[in-house]
Amino acid sequence: MIDDLPLYPSARPCVRSGFCCKQAPCGFGEWNASETACVHLAGDRPGQYACAIADRIKLDPTWVVSPAFGAGCCSPRNLDRSRTDERRSHSDSDSA
Ligand code: SF4
Ligand code: SF4
Repeated sequence: MIDDLPLYPSARPCVRSGFCCKQAPCGFGEWNASETACVHLAGDRPGQYACAIADRIKLDPTWVVSPAFGAGCCSPRNLDRSRTDERRSHSDSDSA
């Protein structure tokens, strides 16, 4: 299996908001029946989403940079991401 990519310079780490996999499926994915997300998007809320077939994709020799597992987020201004960031900072301060 290929390891995750390094974080792209100036990219922000993925916070599992799920936003990108709701915009359009990557080359390994496909829409769900209502075309609201990729069928392989696991989890039920921002901060907990994950690609259910990531391990399978990383074993595929055609996987190189897309989806860019590990390379960070190219949608840093999306609202799902902002809400996830906010929730995380609240829970960090709650536990401090
Ligand atoms: S939009 Fe960004 S933070 Fe959300 S899942 Fe995609 S890469 Fe991660
Ligand atoms: S990364 Fe996984 S969940 Fe996201 S679009 Fe691709 S196959 Fe679907």
